[in-house]
Amino acid sequence: MTVHSRNLNIDELRALDHAHHMHPFTDHKSLQAEGGSRIITHSDRIYLWDSAGNKMLDAMSGLWCVNVGYGRKSIAQAAYDQMLELPYYNTFFKTAHVPAIELAAKVASLLPERFNKVFFVGSGSEANDTIYRLVRHYFNVKGMPSKKAFIARQNAYHGSTVVSASLGGMAGMHGQGDLPLPGIHHVMQPYWYDLGGELSPEEFGLKAAQAVEDKILELGAENVAAFIGEPIQGAGGVIIPPSTYWPEINRICKKYGVLLIADEVICGFGRTGEWFGLDTFGIEADIVPMAKGLSSGYLPIGAVAISDEIADYLYEYGGEFYHGYTYSGHPAACAVALENIRILEEEKLVERVQKLAPYFNEKLKTLADHPIVGEVRSVGLIGAVELTRDKATRSRFDKPGRVGLICRDHCFQNNLIMRSCYDTMVAAPPFVITEAEIDEMVRLARLAFDLTYADVSKEMA
Ligand SMILES: *Cc1c(COP(=O)(O)O)cnc(C)c1O
Repeated sequence: MTVHSRNLNIDELRALDHAHHMHPFTDHKSLQAEGGSRIITHSDRIYLWDSAGNKMLDAMSGLWCVNVGYGRKSIAQAAYDQMLELPYYNTFFKTAHVPAIELAAKVASLLPERFNKVFFVGSGSEANDTIYRLVRHYFNVKGMPSKKAFIARQNAYHGSTVVSASLGGMAGMHGQGDLPLPGIHHVMQPYWYDLGGELSPEEFGLKAAQAVEDKILELGAENVAAFIGEPIQGAGGVIIPPSTYWPEINRICKKYGVLLIADEVICGFGRTGEWFGLDTFGIEADIVPMAKGLSSGYLPIGAVAISDEIADYLYEYGGEFYHGYTYSGHPAACAVALENIRILEEEKLVERVQKLAPYFNEKLKTLADHPIVGEVRSVGLIGAVELTRDKATRSRFDKPGRVGLICRDHCFQNNLIMRSCYDTMVAAPPFVITEAEIDEMVRLARLAFDLTYADVSKEMA
């Protein structure tokens, strides 16, 4: 019996949801005032259905993760088969199992040659916590115990545990619980649309990179362990750095002996039209956290790839690294990730993203003429549309995020799932989306922009 053929009592489910289920990133009081959760019942390819029978185009791939699309029987089968054969065993204490070994080798083979060691975790947040511990341990072992500070960017997203929320640059998250941890420093993000002013994007890219160098000099290179950045900031609003940014970051990190961490949790496994954002932007990273796209979200799993330079040193001199999770390299999750990667390869989905990218960009760009749209940008199958009250000055509506939420709700009402990051509307559809479905996505987005415009036109410049 499939879930959607069950005779669901939706009102009862909503009541139970409110009574017992505490959601992530949710204001429960206002959710309840709006009538409670939308309950998602089933899925296929790029579509989701809710309990009211609405069929919705999921232009967000869940939370940027369901890259191979919903309804993959072979992935379910891989989990089923693995659970019967060996549902669980750990990889502590001198043991291993087939799926973890195969997945580690597979992930290493997809990354640039200098990456040959892969540490498994359960999520992107755990990946970044692992890196924080590993890097600090590494510099201790190297006899450089002062090298401990991390530099990250404002408005970055690296997860929601104590360390990963500290590395992230979300003011709201920092405000709750006295983050960031000491020793984690934030610098300007490469967000030309918001911060570039009169500079060209290329000039601004250099300025944003300079902020990293300035911070290193301020702290003293002997005190700085690492810089972390997403190749494209996802949750921050799909911020695509100017072309000058990453080459300059490469140079700066190398010059001062600062490790470069490229957070590939969203970009990894094809989102940008290459296997990794590293490939798209030429980022010379030393450490790579990944998660979401690794399993297309079918089961939770993340990983950290470590360059030979670091891994060889730690293997030789580091002794035991007292770190790991019960579910590091969970067999079923590894089997699912292997099947996900097999699908990406067999169906040439990364090449597909690259082929669709110009079409996706061109269709999104048709929205640029809309009166409330300030900028449209995309790489691969990840894109953003900026909402503005004045195209000429790129100025925002007051109360950041308010108009974005109005627009997001219009999207939902018209069965399009897009997300608002403050007043930036973002999309990252599954790689199996067709050209006709991109047309449909953009048609629904325009409708939502029209409705939003009608709501806020009085506030326009
Ligand atoms: C989602 C995300 C994370 C956190 O991953 P979780 O699996 O939610 O812990 C980390 N980094 C980036 C860039 C992300 O988008």
